Amino acid sequence: MKTDRIYLDYAATTPLDPEVLAVMCEVGTTIFGNPSSIHAEGRVARTIIEESRKSICKVLNASLNELFFTSCGTEAHNTILTGAVRDLGVRRIISSPLEHHCILHTLEYLRSHDRIEVVYLPVNAFGQPSQEAIQAELARDPEIKKMVSLMHVNNEIGVQIDLLEIGRLCRDHQVLFHSDTVQGIGFDRYDLQHLPVDFMAGSAHKFFGPKGIGFMFIRNDHRLHPLLYGGSQERNMRSGTENIMGIAGMAKALELAHSNQDSRIAHLQAIRSRLKGELLALDPDISINGDLPGQTSPKILSVNVPRDARTELLLMNLDIAGVSASGGSACSSGVESASHVLAHLPIDPDQTTVRFSFSHHTTDQEIDRVIDIMDSLMRRKVV
Ligand code: PLP
Repeated sequence: MKTDRIYLDYAATTPLDPEVLAVMCEVGTTIFGNPSSIHAEGRVARTIIEESRKSICKVLNASLNELFFTSCGTEAHNTILTGAVRDLGVRRIISSPLEHHCILHTLEYLRSHDRIEVVYLPVNAFGQPSQEAIQAELARDPEIKKMVSLMHVNNEIGVQIDLLEIGRLCRDHQVLFHSDTVQGIGFDRYDLQHLPVDFMAGSAHKFFGPKGIGFMFIRNDHRLHPLLYGGSQERNMRSGTENIMGIAGMAKALELAHSNQDSRIAHLQAIRSRLKGELLALDPDISINGDLPGQTSPKILSVNVPRDARTELLLMNLDIAGVSASGGSACSSGVESASHVLAHLPIDPDQTTVRFSFSHHTTDQEIDRVIDIMDSLMRRKVV
């Protein structure tokens, strides 16, 4: 459906790719068997799941037995974090206060319920966890079983961590490494045979796949108990009849993201750099969050603008003008509240923040229009 609205909230979610929809329609209209049934209809459904697993593992260079389908990224991270504590003996988790709530709230639950220790690393002005603090935490109390949990790409400001470097440090100290890669999957290359990450997760709706389907990667040598008990699907790691259409759609979406990755990234970089340059030229008091060359996702631009009203007003005015953006994170309730990510950054309290996030569908004409709208909103001092 084409509208004259300008959607710049692709980090919150993406529309379904028509090629993904075609695969889902084909699967949904022709295949209805329960993949656990041993008859022909069941076997066909099982084949779809296993072919999808193969396709995703090929993109990620993972082994088939390391990938498990879940209903979303949140479920995958909950399974991994609770499993690491209950089954692998982890007693201290080293994380960052800028993680997504599906990590932070799970950590707080594990702290109060399972009495684990949670260490939140200090972050630098760009939102990255301090390298010195990571090293110090890895070396501290070697007798305590630890896990590092750090997101690859921050969903609000786009800043990234160096997975390879932190993974190597974790290996050197025999500390488990979990990464929330939900914003990176479909945009970055992950070679899991070589990347020293023990656990990570993806969510199809972030890369033009359907909502309600995701996956978790659990490195071969780790044995966790599931969150859900029942029919023992997914090799006993995730009971519940499989979402076959979703799984097939996710595999297609990842295949498309992978095969078009270079051109999509080049487009995102050009769009982001143009909007950033033009916005900075509008007003010397405008600034960008988490903006580090080569270490920031090209799909996210988090912009601070001088405030003389509440964040909602800027977003509301953009919305009225036909532009969908976000204030911080729109993932949870849809209600804008003070962002825990922005609260840890050195942002002038007289500024208000808007997150623009892009895709390969974003056009130069849309960016022109957004610049005009921001210009007129700021000149009219509506913000
Ligand atoms: N982690 C990050 C960084 C996210 O942006 C999101 C998305 O909203 C999630 C986790 C949760 O993913 P899902 O919506 O699949 O539960």
